[in-house]
Amino acid sequence: MTVETTKIDTLVVGAGQAGVAMSEHLSKQGVPHLVLERSRIAERWRTGRWDSLVANGPAWHDRFPGLEFDDVSPDGFAAKERVADYFEAYARKFNAPIRTGVEVKSVERNVGRPGFTVHTSEGVIEANRVVAATGPFQKPVIPAIAPQNVPFTQIHSADYRNPAQLPEGAVLVVGAGSSGVQIADELQRAGKQVYLSVGAHDRPPRAYRNRDFCWWLGVLGEWDQAAMKPGREHVTIAVSGAHGGKTIDFRELAHRGMTLVGLTHSFDGAVATFQPNLVENLTRGDENYLALLEAADAYIERNGLDLPQEPEARRVFPDPECVTQPILELDLAKAGVTTIIWATGFAVDYSWLKVDAFDASGKPQHQRGVSSEPGIYFLGLPWQSRRGSSFIWGVWHDAKHVADHIATQRKYLDYRDASQRRETTHSPVSA
Ligand SMILES: Cc1cc2nc3c(=O)[nH]c(=O)nc-3n(C[C@H](O)[C@H](O)[C@H](O)COP(=O)(O)OP(=O)(O)OC[C@H]3O[C@@H](n4cnc5c(N)ncnc54)[C@H](O)[C@@H]3O)c2cc1C
Repeated sequence: MTVETTKIDTLVVGAGQAGVAMSEHLSKQGVPHLVLERSRIAERWRTGRWDSLVANGPAWHDRFPGLEFDDVSPDGFAAKERVADYFEAYARKFNAPIRTGVEVKSVERNVGRPGFTVHTSEGVIEANRVVAATGPFQKPVIPAIAPQNVPFTQIHSADYRNPAQLPEGAVLVVGAGSSGVQIADELQRAGKQVYLSVGAHDRPPRAYRNRDFCWWLGVLGEWDQAAMKPGREHVTIAVSGAHGGKTIDFRELAHRGMTLVGLTHSFDGAVATFQPNLVENLTRGDENYLALLEAADAYIERNGLDLPQEPEARRVFPDPECVTQPILELDLAKAGVTTIIWATGFAVDYSWLKVDAFDASGKPQHQRGVSSEPGIYFLGLPWQSRRGSSFIWGVWHDAKHVADHIATQRKYLDYRDASQRRETTHSPVSA
């Protein structure tokens, strides 16, 4: 497709949920804009994730305010393709000006005149403003400890699709956040022997006293936390909407046959060593789980709500052998491991954005998405304005703020002083 537009007020890069939300709010504010997407709308939900993935939050929660999932029960968990369809339908609803199949290659500030020059796979665009909505999770990260020259298949969770894709044999899954634990569970259900390396994590109950954890985090103000608590930078969240939505309980997984190990420390050829912190990590996860039950009980009490008691939520599985006698070293070859899956997270890549909007470590410098380089905006960053920022419902609210800022800036630039106004009034009216 040829990009005909050569000048646009605001260019949005990326048409995932962030780009779609941005377009909706810019449309409402009357800001002329264009969204460029290198693949398809919500591509990462279609091809960037494993086949069986469903949303981690229920359909009543993981959506934008302007549209419900008409074919998923409010308490159900939409399949990933359905989530992608949802964003396509959403974009159609307000006729979002999205061009797909166009990659933005570079953005540079103009010298001596306002705006930016944007090189794309389909030509050059001049834009007054650019919103980078290219996602919180762009480049798979595999840590440097990954063993070299070993006879294992090693993939990142971003490349995992289904159990049939893996060779025969046991699997070591490194990382037990939502991706790692869901993949490990799927592989174990498919009959594979699974070793799961568990680091620091939060694990809220899927639901407690008839309310999903998304509801609890909402009413308890946790989604709105402005910044990560110090020291919690490496704490993942282990939740799942799979199989109708179940609380992640690591001991239960172990009782089903999974082997839990601590944080992966290093490799010496085929021999992996694990940190002696499995018990500590599980204990901290339990504390997080119990803290949410306590906070929920207190909320119910304070507000006099009539929600059923749920004493079984405090039932604890006995410690399995892999917890009482943690494995600190494992010869993967002898254990029959043929695959390592690195569920170790993602980094961002803004190499195309050649502007002064980054700190020394390459992180975007911004306030609620308004960057330190005037005219450049970010959307969809983790913790952009709050804990919920990189999630479906959160990005919609951040987009509103960014659109407001853009509309306000346009108002300043539209301002004409008295002499300029006189000029406009007197100019070409009479011949
Ligand atoms: C496994 C997994 C499960 C998740 N589940 C949930 C969930 O259940 N609920 C929830 O709320 N959140 C979930 N998230 C978090 C978040 O909602 C998703 O990561 C979501 O995809 C982020 O949307 P986004 O629009 O910010 O970024 P993306 O979906 O990553 O979209 C960015 C878009 O930008 C495009 N792009 C990138 N670079 C360029 C370029 N140079 N030019 C043109 N286009 C470009 C990409 O092709 C992509 O389509 C999940 C994340 C992961 C990894």
